[in-house]
Amino acid sequence: MRLLLVEDEKKVADFVARGLRAETFAVDVASDGNIGWEMASKRPYDLIILDLMLPGIKGAELLRRLRQQGITAAVLVLTARDSTNDKVELFEAGADDYLTKPFAFAELLVRVKALLRRPPTERSQVLRVADLELDRLSQQVRRAGKRIELTAKEYYLLEFLLSHVGQVLSRTMIVEHVWDKSFENLTNIVDVYVRHLRTKVDDAFPTKLIHTVRGAGYSISDGKET
Ligand code: CA
Repeated sequence: MRLLLVEDEKKVADFVARGLRAETFAVDVASDGNIGWEMASKRPYDLIILDLMLPGIKGAELLRRLRQQGITAAVLVLTARDSTNDKVELFEAGADDYLTKPFAFAELLVRVKALLRRPPTERSQVLRVADLELDRLSQQVRRAGKRIELTAKEYYLLEFLLSHVGQVLSRTMIVEHVWDKSFENLTNIVDVYVRHLRTKVDDAFPTKLIHTVRGAGYSISDGKET
């Protein structure tokens, strides 16, 4: 799992990042709203922890932009105790949960874990590219209407690819998301699983959807191989 922490207060950022890394999460830190926006729109995160009071783009505005962009990562908002921000407004803007500062790390961790367990929102329930379809609710995969049986890891790999159609996903990113680990030495396993997945999803069809991007990783799209 890769998390993005957007927090300008260095002490808080260090303390949260250190704690989450100790729990084996991969954590990127953005120290202001502009950097946060840049990072969140460039690479996929499973969860974003977003401070509201930020230099640059403010937290609430950043949240709105993320949702407008179709980024569905869970967002945990950090608010100040005396904040005048309306909680209802935050949820309407696309926040999934919030935590009031100061907080104990244990409480943050409980919320992070709960959000990561949460089923994806309805709007992204069925993921699609060309005639390939993955239904997150029934966990069924079909191509050209025909059911494809996948193992759990193959399913999560395909789900990750389909959540980022047209984007290049590195082996490291895939390992972090599908295997919940941040170890470089697991990246070979990605090639093995992509091979399995291709056999089931692409081999019988003239249009290949899973593409190898040399030196970079993999992507799924109905476009041509790059
Ligand atoms: Ca702040």
